[in-house]
Amino acid sequence: MTEIEQLKQELSYYSVLAYNRILVSSAGGNDSARIGDSDEFLITASGLSLGDTKPENLITINAKAEKIAGPEGFKPSKESRMHAAIYILRPDVKAIFHLHPRYCNALSILGETIRPVTVSAKAKLGNVPLLPESMPGSDELLRDVRNAIPTLDASVHTLLLACHGIVSMGASIMEAYLRADLVEETAHLVYLTKYRLS
Ligand SMILES: [Zn+2]
Repeated sequence: MTEIEQLKQELSYYSVLAYNRILVSSAGGNDSARIGDSDEFLITASGLSLGDTKPENLITINAKAEKIAGPEGFKPSKESRMHAAIYILRPDVKAIFHLHPRYCNALSILGETIRPVTVSAKAKLGNVPLLPESMPGSDELLRDVRNAIPTLDASVHTLLLACHGIVSMGASIMEAYLRADLVEETAHLVYLTKYRLS
């Protein structure tokens, strides 16, 4: 199996897992992986549920977020420009998950942030900066992410997008996925403890 085939299999597996873990619903969310050390990336298709991701419907884009390979009739995610911008600014990032987890969204809708309340979150998650509300795929979202990334401490790997979702970055597909899963568990615990729910 070639490196790109392996990446496609892994990205598909974790995309479906993210959907099955209810970290995103409907046709929301998108994720991507850098191909080797290049400025080319695999990304999920626009309009398709992450639960339906398969190696054969992933799309290859370049640093300008242009489709350079992939199945006919499929467009790259509308957030491709945001993914490409992060990869350019952060050469250490090899994979990105953008998801709409419900407790992360509940907290930002309530004007709350995600504090690392467990030892696991303190060790593995660190701070989760909050970015302002903006429309999916918009120039404003791209601008806010571009402005935020260079200002972040190296220990920051996840961003909370107000009333929208999260961005999780990692040195591997698995690492970016696991951080997304952990940030939602942390948001759930913040919600439960803050509002004294059982
Ligand atoms: Zn989104």
